[in-house]
Amino acid sequence: MPTDPPPISRLQAIFSDEDPGILGEVAWVKRFVERWLADDRLRAAYLAEPDGIDAGHRVPRELASYLHENSPLSSAEDPVLRAYGRYLGKRIEHRAEMSRECAPAMAPFRAWRERQMHRCQDQLPDQYNEAILHLPVAFELSEGCSVGCWFCGLSATRLESVFSASPSHRTLWRETLEVVREVAGPAAGQGIAFWATDPLDNPDYEIFCQDFHQVLGRFPATTTALGPKDLDRAEKLLQLSWSKGCDFNRFSILSLSQMDALTARFSPESLLYVDLIAQTRGSLRAKAQAGKALEKGEKAPALVSSEPSTIACVSGFLINMPTRSVRLISPCPAGPRWPMGYRVHASSSFVDANELRSEIGRMMADVMRVSPPKDRPVRLRADLKDSDRLADFSLGELAWSRLNQGCVTGAELAFELESDGVPMAQTFHALNRLFDQGLLDDEPEPEGHEIHA
Ligand code: SF4
Repeated sequence: MPTDPPPISRLQAIFSDEDPGILGEVAWVKRFVERWLADDRLRAAYLAEPDGIDAGHRVPRELASYLHENSPLSSAEDPVLRAYGRYLGKRIEHRAEMSRECAPAMAPFRAWRERQMHRCQDQLPDQYNEAILHLPVAFELSEGCSVGCWFCGLSATRLESVFSASPSHRTLWRETLEVVREVAGPAAGQGIAFWATDPLDNPDYEIFCQDFHQVLGRFPATTTALGPKDLDRAEKLLQLSWSKGCDFNRFSILSLSQMDALTARFSPESLLYVDLIAQTRGSLRAKAQAGKALEKGEKAPALVSSEPSTIACVSGFLINMPTRSVRLISPCPAGPRWPMGYRVHASSSFVDANELRSEIGRMMADVMRVSPPKDRPVRLRADLKDSDRLADFSLGELAWSRLNQGCVTGAELAFELESDGVPMAQTFHALNRLFDQGLLDDEPEPEGHEIHA
């Protein structure tokens, strides 16, 4: 019996017009660059004597000027480097497409996510903001994480429990996926099944991913630090994910010996769509100043980014299956109020899918408003003081003063401005635009803080 060929992922399809021989050489360059990013001794040796390094790693001589002087790859003479430049460019395009596909189906959810995206653009350093897809959902299939990284941006707690794939759990899992699909639509398929967890802590992770694929039409991308510790499982997971059309996966690399083990096991070609994320001591990438890295930043300033940041990538629902909890979250710079780099707009728990459905509905009604709230004061985001983002709003001094104070509702402001000669419709129009562009403050009030309109 002939078997169906495995589906080609979208990412693989993007590269189908490349010469397979050249793509194979690109895979060697990708591998070298990942090692270069992780290994400070290799960087020093390559800077001192590129010729001594090139041949062993099968990379073109010209790569040194790209890495050391940041020369544009598109103008490289070497065809492999030009192809590597196309590879990187297409990966960026693919991410942009994924971000668009993360837009939830329900209009209030979609508009709320867009407002969070606008806010993050203003508040986060560019390189962190650009990495955020604003996924509509993330699921945790464990409680805590066994890895215990000192820099964990989400401050994962110790591993306490995992959600086993018992028949009743699988029923709840599949129904949970359906509930999310009802509000997010096809975007739910862009979700991930890990957060402050390592997916491979759950021995049944692959079973849950197959359910995810059946219910939501996509096999979720995996990021794991445990892959290098169980190469057999990692290989089977990669094969399973590719066979279901998964686009890409990622291994977090905590040490060079882990990288050695992975690269000995997998050929460069087989990791063309697997990113090796350098979390080694000699990594060129600073850890995001969030979570544990925020706490430890002062002790390891050279290893942590200088600005508060985040690795949170969800503007939507964070659902923990073992504890049956659901939170509505969005990324923000880590700080005293939100040390893990995400805001919690609402939180609840559930016992079954029906309760989850009603809790999600309640959160959406409370938080994902379609216009500026009428029952509470309207206030500009505090970080916008003197921002040129406000330049094209033709509001007078009185309006800006009231919006900065945040002491009147939209209706009260419109009445007050009308007595100053500003038509009410004009004020409401301006407020709606400020709201749509995420310029009005929607940070959740601290617990116990009563709002009086
Ligand atoms: S960074 Fe990932 S693997 Fe490390 S402790 Fe946090 S959740 Fe676990």
